[in-house]
Amino acid sequence: MIDYHLHLWEHPNKATQFTLETLAEYCRKAESMGLKQIAVTEHFHRFTQSKQWLGKFWTKFDDHELYESMEAYFDHHATYDIEEYISIALLAKESGLPIVVGLEMDYFKDNMEFLNDKLRQYPFDVILGSVHWLKNWRFDDLYDTVSMKVWDSTDLENIWAEYSYHMEELASANSCDVLAHPDLIKVNSNLLKDTGLINEFNLRIAESANRFDLAAEVSSAGYRKPIKEQYPSHDLLQLFLAKDVPITTASDAHKISDIGYRFDSIMALIKEFNVNKLATFNQRMRSYIDL
Ligand SMILES: [Zn+2]
Ligand SMILES: [Zn+2]
Repeated sequence: MIDYHLHLWEHPNKATQFTLETLAEYCRKAESMGLKQIAVTEHFHRFTQSKQWLGKFWTKFDDHELYESMEAYFDHHATYDIEEYISIALLAKESGLPIVVGLEMDYFKDNMEFLNDKLRQYPFDVILGSVHWLKNWRFDDLYDTVSMKVWDSTDLENIWAEYSYHMEELASANSCDVLAHPDLIKVNSNLLKDTGLINEFNLRIAESANRFDLAAEVSSAGYRKPIKEQYPSHDLLQLFLAKDVPITTASDAHKISDIGYRFDSIMALIKEFNVNKLATFNQRMRSYIDL
């Protein structure tokens, strides 16, 4: 197995200086769990460059409470230098540790081409593509009361439709290699009663992954959330595999103890579908390792 989605800092904490030894410790933990390779994939919005490059994108949307919440979120998160992050991660890789240099990128409407140009100057191995927010609504920020209120005041079908539309846009933006937690919209267990509709939205996501030659991760992070199941759902995973979408495995750990979290369950699931290889990446080029 591989763990292709790891963070250095938990969200409530500010980014702090890390070293080669921090990543060596990540690798030791991964190896102790039988993992062959890991990807460190910090959020783009952890870096000061996200604010410098994007400006206050949240002010483009009209809900004042939400944009204040987003502003506070970026003020808290965007504090580390992306070049420092990459240089330490690269040092770890070059020293022979089983690690690749990654990033978790959000979808920023109308800015993806510009961001692609900016990011192309850096030697990333893999970029994960994520939708954590719709316009300036952080639908998966379970601890933000302003964001959570929106769940009660918005039509659920619209939310799911909007999410799948954003995922399609992200997939088409030529920005990422892997779709992260592909059905994150279910995080809060707010499922649609109409399973046919869920299937329709899932199909759109799976088709986009196929059309734009992206991999999808099977993530254990959902077990730590109210939905209490992996991303993607059994049905969405089936759609990905039917369309030959390559798979990675991921914990989305934000602390060392969560590396490889519940990988026994993930392994059992992918074995059920006869998955026998996982996608890995080096300088944005995909290859495979046997499971
Ligand atoms: Zn994420
Ligand atoms: Zn993540």
